[in-house]
Amino acid sequence: MLLGAIADDFTGATDLCSMLVRGGLRTVQLIGTPAADQTVPEADAVVVALKSRTAPARQAIDASLAALTWLQAAGARQFFFKYCSTFDSTERGNIGPVADALVAALGCGFALACPAFPTNARTVYQGHLFVGGTLLNESGMENHPLTPMTDANLVRVLSRQTEGTVGLVPFMTVDQGVAAIRDAMTRLKEQGRRYAIIDAITDAHLVSIGEAAAAHALITGGSGVALGLGANFRRAGLLAAATDPAALPMLEGPCAVLAGSCSRATLAQIGFAREHVPVLDVDALATPDAAALSSAALDWASGRLGDKPVVIAASTGPDKVAALQSRLGREQAGALVEDAVARIAEGLVARGVRRIVVAGGETSGAVVGRLRVRSLRIGGEIDPGVPWTYAEGSGPDLMLALKSGNFGATDFFLKAFRTART
Ligand code: ADP
Repeated sequence: MLLGAIADDFTGATDLCSMLVRGGLRTVQLIGTPAADQTVPEADAVVVALKSRTAPARQAIDASLAALTWLQAAGARQFFFKYCSTFDSTERGNIGPVADALVAALGCGFALACPAFPTNARTVYQGHLFVGGTLLNESGMENHPLTPMTDANLVRVLSRQTEGTVGLVPFMTVDQGVAAIRDAMTRLKEQGRRYAIIDAITDAHLVSIGEAAAAHALITGGSGVALGLGANFRRAGLLAAATDPAALPMLEGPCAVLAGSCSRATLAQIGFAREHVPVLDVDALATPDAAALSSAALDWASGRLGDKPVVIAASTGPDKVAALQSRLGREQAGALVEDAVARIAEGLVARGVRRIVVAGGETSGAVVGRLRVRSLRIGGEIDPGVPWTYAEGSGPDLMLALKSGNFGATDFFLKAFRTART
């Protein structure tokens, strides 16, 4: 294992995995802190997906350190702490406290911090994070229900979260390339800074930053800064050039799509699928009972399973979502639907389904939990940010594509099962 990564949420981990595969690293995502007896996957990079973004700081630190200990024992040479490209964190953590604990455990004294992801319109200039053309604190993120970001100046934000001090490697230096970035980081470390926020507004900047950090024990940031890490290992002669990092074992068997996302892209994907394959709308408002919903859906699916996907969707428009939420409360409504979809997934697998697309981040978490999946080997992307994965756990092996609600083109549900890698 070359790279051991710790991600503070599930879909963020998959996003990083995709980036690493693109860089030529065979990558496996592990769900939650690995147990001591977890087999070390045959991979160049392992990403441990935690759910620590909004957890109390102590809990986030403990989970991250446990993941680090496992990754160290598994032989990783370099470590990566992945957080959101909008630096999502509460005022008192968790990025700073977790990074402090990792820096201390690794004894490296310094780490760069670079959330920039220009492809997704996240750039950092003079330490300020922009979303598109807007400062982070005016981008809508200031109203996030869990992690409101009210300050775009990341030097200030991280300073408030860490016991160390934070410097900046500004655009003018980053734009000069690898040697200038490396020198600037060395100077900051010598001055006693624990972190450097690094400006980046293009992918070329991210590649230079990655190369400048080739010898660093710890890198922290969004998935963008992982762009050049594969090349570092290749230059060092540690990565065989010939292997296809996205190669997955093949699985036959019936296939299905499960949708629990009510995001616009998912609703359009369901609409498109209706014209081509059987679609069942699971109406949680009419039957607010997870067990009843899942047994009805499984009855419906039973005669229809095969090589063409069936689509089972709890997704609906804002009015029906609001109606269920006002009846049950926001959290209960979400939990009910997630539970129903997860039960349907379990029933489908019991009926022989082996290839499943899940739409929705939280929904994917619920499905993977119910199916007791422990690891996902990352394959080729169906659409940007959504790879096929080969899932292993205590049940049968599965092919899973876990889609964040707003990702994917309109024909995603059909295209997924046409891609060569399944
Ligand atoms: P996304 O990735 O689009 O944010 P998520 O799965 O993360 O999707 O979140 C969607 C949430 O909406 C889930 O908690 C899901 O259970 C909930 N949900 C889905 N369908 C309905 C519905 N018909 N009524 C109320 N809530 C719903």
